[in-house]
Amino acid sequence: MMNTESLNLLGMPRGDLEAYFSSMGEKPFRARQLMRWMYRRSVLDLAEMTDLSQALRDHLNGKISLGLPDVRDRQQSTDGTVKWLLDVGKSQDVETVFIPEEGRGTLCVSSQVGCAMDCPFCATGRQGFNRNLSAAEIIGQVLLAVRDLGGTGEDSPVTNVVFMGMGEPLANFREVTAACDLLTDDLGFALSRRRVTVSTSGLVPQIKRLAEVTNVALAISLHATRDELRNDLVPINRKHPITELLRACWDYAAQTNSKQITFEYIMLDGVNDDRQDAIELAGLLQGYPAKVNLIPFNPVAGTPFGRTPQKRVDAFRKVLMDKGVITITRRPRGDDIDAACGQLAGNLDNKVRVPLAQKMLHTVNKS
Ligand code: SAH
Ligand code: SF4
Repeated sequence: MMNTESLNLLGMPRGDLEAYFSSMGEKPFRARQLMRWMYRRSVLDLAEMTDLSQALRDHLNGKISLGLPDVRDRQQSTDGTVKWLLDVGKSQDVETVFIPEEGRGTLCVSSQVGCAMDCPFCATGRQGFNRNLSAAEIIGQVLLAVRDLGGTGEDSPVTNVVFMGMGEPLANFREVTAACDLLTDDLGFALSRRRVTVSTSGLVPQIKRLAEVTNVALAISLHATRDELRNDLVPINRKHPITELLRACWDYAAQTNSKQITFEYIMLDGVNDDRQDAIELAGLLQGYPAKVNLIPFNPVAGTPFGRTPQKRVDAFRKVLMDKGVITITRRPRGDDIDAACGQLAGNLDNKVRVPLAQKMLHTVNKS
């Protein structure tokens, strides 16, 4: 666990860090020097930060920490995917996953311990919500992965960061947006805004606020084309139905000058995957700046859902493509180490277990 006695400067917004140094009578550029060490060079040991005066380093020693989450376990899949299980205290874990692909490396980070959104197909949702992660814990996942994979911020194996691990990022707005700022800051990880993706189940007011403070890429977990079904699959839909959600998406794209919004759609066998669903999905997105990601369902024990056969996925994709909606099919990755989307369950204490089976059968029978 991180040292909680001292102030962890990791993940602190640039402005706050400058204010911190000013409060010690130091020039704000000290903050920028420190950021360069931490994020560009991935150095966390004050002793190595030779352009900070010895007096300043002595002063900081003991007062501050630059702490990364502790790694409880690390697993590597046969396909190169790496999963870290991180100790976030009180016997709780979150997971971070690195997915290497040709020409890029995507890091899937967690934003919360558990999740309150209660989507019935999701392993994280099954656990209930425990707490928000801090920006230090979110940025710590990135720095830890970069260092573990033998890189630095300047020469990074991580080219893309997606908030698709555990948790609902927009329910942890302040810390997630602070982390996004550091991911895109040129003294941070200097990622292009298109390479940082916040994925949400559809918290409409927060999507509106997001457009005011950042312009990173937005992904929506849509999963259904009718409110009746989406109310069951993504319960936040009862509060913010599809029409309202889509309007917020198009506004976000316009306000942030984004090329497109990504719509994630898990293919659930016999639930949301027939031709009529594809036609309706195309109807919702046609003519808008949208791209669809068809996600194979990763089985979660205790849920009644199954994975749509590949043939039906291909047919679904063809309907969308024929109607001019760009659609890609995601390959399952890291299956053998439970590192695929929605399999991130960590290890929680105090979790609220949601009684599941009956509710689910209800969902499936209905569709
Ligand atoms: N809470 C956010 C981000 C984390 S979930 C969200 O829901 O968007 C990241 C993605 O994994 C979401 O699209 C989610 O719907 C998907 N997912 C969850 N459980 C899954 C499962 N069992 N199989 C495949 N994808 C899953
Ligand atoms: Fe939470 Fe996303 Fe899982 Fe839904 S799919 S329970 S929003 S993590």
